[in-house]
Amino acid sequence: MWIVPESAIAGLVDEQSAFDAVEATFAAMSRGDAYNFPVVREGLGEGRQYGFKSGLDRVGNLLGVKSGGYFPGNAARGIPNHQSTVFLFDPDSGRPTAMVGGNLLTALRTAAASSISVARLARADAKVLGMVGAGHQSAFQMRAAVRQRDFEKVIGWNLHPDMLSRLAETAQDLGLPFEAVELDQLGAEADVIITITSSDKPILQDAHIRPGTHLACMGTDTIGKQEVAAEILGRATVFTDEVAQSVTLGEAQHAVAAGLLAQEAITEIGAVINGGHPGRSSADEITVFDGTGVGLQDLAVASKAVELAIARGLAQEVAV
Ligand code: NAD
Repeated sequence: MWIVPESAIAGLVDEQSAFDAVEATFAAMSRGDAYNFPVVREGLGEGRQYGFKSGLDRVGNLLGVKSGGYFPGNAARGIPNHQSTVFLFDPDSGRPTAMVGGNLLTALRTAAASSISVARLARADAKVLGMVGAGHQSAFQMRAAVRQRDFEKVIGWNLHPDMLSRLAETAQDLGLPFEAVELDQLGAEADVIITITSSDKPILQDAHIRPGTHLACMGTDTIGKQEVAAEILGRATVFTDEVAQSVTLGEAQHAVAAGLLAQEAITEIGAVINGGHPGRSSADEITVFDGTGVGLQDLAVASKAVELAIARGLAQEVAV
């Protein structure tokens, strides 16, 4: 069994390898070669959350689980509040094959998912990237997105303006101008909008969104969270990583509950990757990607990390 600690991940998995691994996983899910097991999430008290995301990819030879959660006392300990570890198993024998630090991988696989949606669904001439949210994930989201189109500018909004410096610094690092804007301007100017917040009520309203926009809604991964008005999904073409999660705990939960969106109208992004769905059909279409975050994404990037760590002598082998 191989161990790849959190400290080794940064030099191993980059944006492109995360993109490739997650895209292959979405394609496998849509072909029916891979599926996610039901998510387990439990409150431990004092704001702590703990759970499991797991799945099987028969063709990609992935079986495993990401275990982890949210531990709000960690900031005072000087360690991240979000903690996760991926365990991989041999799908034939069930024997453990690897234990992999999952914190950075979670950010990379989440950013890979939205960047896949930008690559597949945004207008080819998209120039302005709009960011809603400026927390830990936002920098990863921006870095992955700008690889997919010739963006000339990043604009951003956040409930807590003091956090906007993260977006400004990331854009500067990427050689792009950044402007903090109000939501009206964000909707009017952005060709692609990524939402990545912990909001529990709509931030973007229907009137904010103009024809041709692509939205990647990435923050809503739990029942009750919401980032955009349900009406937006009602008039958009909606894509997701997994339909079952989208309608229960993703952004689409609200539009489906309100009767504005039928479950059958939601398309897995894997169908676009596999060529079974054309994706965007016109320059005026509004597309939404409801990125809920599935366990197979975690297994895919963890497996890539193990492969690279072994090749570079960075994995530790232990007997089981
Ligand atoms: P963070 O705590 O670092 O940042 C939180 C962000 O949400 C900040 O921009 C903050 O200003 C904003 N925010 C907080 N409360 C808000 C409110 N009531 N209304 C509007 N905005 C609010 O978190 P993070 O690590 O950047 O994660 C952001 C979100 O993404 C979380 O909801 C997290 O659960 C989710 N997430 C989703 C996936 C996925 O696969 N879809 C993966 C990782 C994280």
